[in-house]
Amino acid sequence: MKLLRPCEEAGSILDIDYKKLYRLGKRGILFDLDNTLGGRRPAQLAPEVTTLLDKLTKMEFRIGILTNRRIGTKDRVIVELAAKYPLRCRAGKPRKKGFLDILAQMDVPPEHVVMVGDRLFTDILGANRLGIYSIRIKG
Ligand SMILES: [Mg+2]
Repeated sequence: MKLLRPCEEAGSILDIDYKKLYRLGKRGILFDLDNTLGGRRPAQLAPEVTTLLDKLTKMEFRIGILTNRRIGTKDRVIVELAAKYPLRCRAGKPRKKGFLDILAQMDVPPEHVVMVGDRLFTDILGANRLGIYSIRIKG
């Protein structure tokens, strides 16, 4: 099914060619959290991930975090990310609402946005249905 096929695949978020995405006209990047920005349930971000997000911000990408995870008191990683970027927990991916809400907050239209995530039935399906460029992290 075409809607479950990512536009690209990558081994990790560090392997993506972000300059190419910028040349393609992409200006917003949505990241999934679990198994994308970190491991299965990351307590904090690795330094290279924080560095990458800072670099992408300097490249003038708008960053958003879209996770289906609930907010928990132990989820310090979510508190830290939310201090810097638009973030939606319990986003209900692949439903459209969570995507559209955060894109409105980021002020970028779907055709100029990239979704980076590991799960076909939430991240990739939800992005593809909205015409968002989808990149699957194979892990
Ligand atoms: Mg995930």
